[in-house]
Amino acid sequence: MSDLKNKRIITVATTGAWPTKENTPYVPIEPEEIAEEVYKCWKAGAAVCHIHCRDDQGKAAMEFPKFKKTVDLIRAHKDCDIIINLTTSGGINLSEDDRIKPFAELKPEMASYDCGTMNWQHSGVFENNPKFLEKLGLLMQEKGVKPEIEVFDPGMIYNAQYYIKKGVLKAPAHFQFCMGVAGGIKGTTKNLVFMKETMEEVAPGSTWSAFGVGASAMEILYASVAMGGHIRVGMEDNILYKKGVLAESNVVFVERVRRVIEEFGCEVAKPDEAREILNLK
Ligand code: ZN
Repeated sequence: MSDLKNKRIITVATTGAWPTKENTPYVPIEPEEIAEEVYKCWKAGAAVCHIHCRDDQGKAAMEFPKFKKTVDLIRAHKDCDIIINLTTSGGINLSEDDRIKPFAELKPEMASYDCGTMNWQHSGVFENNPKFLEKLGLLMQEKGVKPEIEVFDPGMIYNAQYYIKKGVLKAPAHFQFCMGVAGGIKGTTKNLVFMKETMEEVAPGSTWSAFGVGASAMEILYASVAMGGHIRVGMEDNILYKKGVLAESNVVFVERVRRVIEEFGCEVAKPDEAREILNLK
């Protein structure tokens, strides 16, 4: 295998919790749509897919049958070895049991782990209380699911340090720097440098990926590539390809970040290379 240091992992977050068909007709909502989009993104270079599902009305939900159907459809593509990463947030105000069930039952290789509570977009509380985080971390270990530690501000990196020390999270950890979400840290290069340096100080040996929502998307994308990070793209974070232009699929985001990575002189990690980088079994 060639040098993994030069490989960058593309994660695609196709759907997320908020964009509806009214916001953009291109967002995949139904399990069939999500699975097809994931397959196309894998062909374009995505090594990881981060999955959210919606209810029949298209609203954020953690309905287990939707997750099962989506995962089954992705796995039905026998040639597709993409790493599946299921959300454990799904939206705000969802029950803890509902948030846990998809990863506990479907045992994806990864699942998101939101490492703290925050005021979400000035609209509500995105609750991840200490008891829930302990339960979630230990259950992920039991099920063999690697946490993708989502941090929306530097305080959450220190939370992760605490949970690593306590044995709730295992080192080496993998972080996702989620930047530019109102209520969390702003998406700027200066802030990304601070997040990365803080992580290296308190959780040495960890891997990291980043994304910026909305207007900060391209700055964080280029800065992450330049700073040696992995990158997440997709309609969970942005529905616009550029100002005033809707992305007509998630594939165009994957294709663009692939071009940036390759122009920079790096290579896009294949799923098996990503498994090695992320210490997945
Ligand atoms: Zn998500």
